[in-house]
Amino acid sequence: MRILISLVLIIITTPSFAVTFEGKFVQGSFILGKTESDSEVFIDKRKVRVSKDGFFVFGLGRDRKYDVVITLIKNGNKQKIVKKVQKRKYDIQRIDGLEETKVTPPEELYERIKKENKLIGEARVIDSNLTFFTKKFMIPIENTIITGVYGSQRILNGKPKWPHYGLDFAADEGTKIKAMLDGTVTLVEPDLFYTGGTLIFDHGHGISTLYMHMQKILVKKNQKVKQGDIIGTVGSTGRATGAHLDVRLNWFQIRLDPATVLEVK
Ligand SMILES: [Zn+2]
Repeated sequence: MRILISLVLIIITTPSFAVTFEGKFVQGSFILGKTESDSEVFIDKRKVRVSKDGFFVFGLGRDRKYDVVITLIKNGNKQKIVKKVQKRKYDIQRIDGLEETKVTPPEELYERIKKENKLIGEARVIDSNLTFFTKKFMIPIENTIITGVYGSQRILNGKPKWPHYGLDFAADEGTKIKAMLDGTVTLVEPDLFYTGGTLIFDHGHGISTLYMHMQKILVKKNQKVKQGDIIGTVGSTGRATGAHLDVRLNWFQIRLDPATVLEVK
């Protein structure tokens, strides 16, 4: 009898919430969560938006090592879920004996680069109530191959360079680019130093996508775009070695692997 009473007490005092996750708990991953609509959700210490249908979203950085703590609160009851993050191996390339000018950008460009990074950073921290991120993404170019992957890094003359956070699609100059998902245009820049013709879209709850090195841009800032709409063409603008499209996926400041939302081989 006493055992039964304590069992009943345990059940009453540890409420469990209905919650599901789509996506793997692996470095670089995009994870879509669904719970009851009137819950509060925290990812680690960060409070995230929950849509009226109960959707929330977050992502895991390239080098994330520690566990993720998801806290759900409903009617004053709290549930904590701890998930291990699986590590990935990235492609690291070492190249030595390069001229120094090829390794570090000249000092006169620092101001420009800083200003441009700020513009991109501002677009990435937008936290809107759009819920387009709940839909499936689509590949932005038809009949293409992947020539660059997320996470890879080059070490030039012993200096680790900024890792590659995008997914590169090989395509001819002028190839049409489709929007991967419904969204609102939050940045249109025809000529940034690194990324050339650049577009950023907001898909809600801190999820943004970037398109880089574009030749033509066919959308305007604040425009609402539907998945599959032609948003511009492939180019080699900015610091690109040839014509290709580089797309990126972010959860706020955290750069995620676009391959975790696109069905690419
Ligand atoms: Zn790239």
